[in-house]
Amino acid sequence: MDKSFKEKEEAILNGRLMPPVKSLKLASDKFFKVVDGSKFEVNCPEDGAVALAEKLAKDFWQVSARVSAGAAKGLPDNDEGYSIRIAASKTVLSAKTLRGLRYAFFTLRQLAESERGVATSRASFILPCVAIDDAPATAWRGMHVCFFPTPETTYVEIERQIRLAAYFKFNYVVIEPWGSLRYPSHPEFSWPGHSVSAGEFRNLVRIAKSLGLTPIPQLNIFGHAPAARGSNHKHTLLDFHPEFAPLFEPDGWCWCLSNPATRAFLTDLVNDLFDIFENPPFFHLGCDEAGDGTCALCRRADYPTLLKNHLLYFNDILKKRGARPMVWHDMFVERGDKRWAGYVACGTPGTISILDKLPKDFVICDWRYNSSAEERNGAEPSFATLRHFIDKGFDTLGCPWFDTCNTLAFGKAIQKYGAMGMLETTWHIKRSYWMHAEFAVASRAAWNPLSADAKGQGFNGGASFAAYVRDVNHDMGVDTYEDFGTAPYQLDVQPI
Ligand SMILES: [Zn+2]
Repeated sequence: MDKSFKEKEEAILNGRLMPPVKSLKLASDKFFKVVDGSKFEVNCPEDGAVALAEKLAKDFWQVSARVSAGAAKGLPDNDEGYSIRIAASKTVLSAKTLRGLRYAFFTLRQLAESERGVATSRASFILPCVAIDDAPATAWRGMHVCFFPTPETTYVEIERQIRLAAYFKFNYVVIEPWGSLRYPSHPEFSWPGHSVSAGEFRNLVRIAKSLGLTPIPQLNIFGHAPAARGSNHKHTLLDFHPEFAPLFEPDGWCWCLSNPATRAFLTDLVNDLFDIFENPPFFHLGCDEAGDGTCALCRRADYPTLLKNHLLYFNDILKKRGARPMVWHDMFVERGDKRWAGYVACGTPGTISILDKLPKDFVICDWRYNSSAEERNGAEPSFATLRHFIDKGFDTLGCPWFDTCNTLAFGKAIQKYGAMGMLETTWHIKRSYWMHAEFAVASRAAWNPLSADAKGQGFNGGASFAAYVRDVNHDMGVDTYEDFGTAPYQLDVQPI
């Protein structure tokens, strides 16, 4: 093969993959046909590898492949890594685990093209003869999705986000209900007519698991107690049920930690979520944008001790059920402290004082959503708060959002400072253009943050992304105008 031919093809194929792979080399100018009877060899020591390969070939390309088990030797070291060797006669996939094998198929799906030069074609695809070696840069890659009351978030939309997270090789998904879940113990903590049943939520959990994701519930046990956006002034419980006012501080934003009834109410919700999420290994307790209590009891109490005991109580419940707590970081760094300039710090002297009293079971979720002008001109951010929690000995996740400059820098900092991983957020901006930033760019930051800028992704950086959205929508059986794509209507523009 001519060198320039090889480089051009590799650039096109590399540019198509989300997240980018570690290494892709063109092996020949031939193609492997994906049709009924195509030969795949699977080198994977886990039970069920051949059956999984047959199923994915059927699901992705509607073909009955001839899959054989190989020797399962010379496998990638990384549990989630995989290698692909495509020749005209056979495709060979190697992975230590079923998850790695599944990732190899996701990559193949993104590489495959429908049969060329014909008017229409189904169940006939081609793959270029390439050698791929790939593995994630970080073992913990999460997507935080928000299920707002229906139809603000539709069931199709939340399922699409979960499926896209898996397709883009995230391995955890945090699902925050925002009043959309009718808790079996307290159905009043949801919006009548705008919520779904525990069974429907459980279905999302099972879909996530079937795709290789580990689902994690979120319940805000301190601030953000309304389970509604602060800027809209709604309150999931107090709007319809003002009689529950004693459970909250007078303004409704934080739970009242002096009231034993608060703890009982929240414990019921936690237990519901444990059942619905089938005993998850992590549980997100929220705790962002909270401050000292101001009610008649809390303002006269030793508030840091109340708060510490509140967190330790829930840690004990989680621990008994085999889960670790996750909390947002911002109450543990003090507002106005110059060390955190450019980062998020909402703490008071009281709230920051309890950090050193927390067990290292707590996973700190360090969030920062905006890059500075200097960073957009090439300056490297320090990620001072991320480093602070790592230095304190906590497992810490870097949590970006829609700002791609910040997201990619976060991905590099997670590697550089040895953070536990990344938790990408989506919040209320999760349609159209923003989906590319949150899924494609964040998956690159988590999986392969040191990859070169991708070329060849087409118009708006998102043409390939749109193809993968179609893959997922077809997997879901989407069949209406409103449900295709990532937004119901083309003229909807989501502001920041
Ligand atoms: Zn209070």
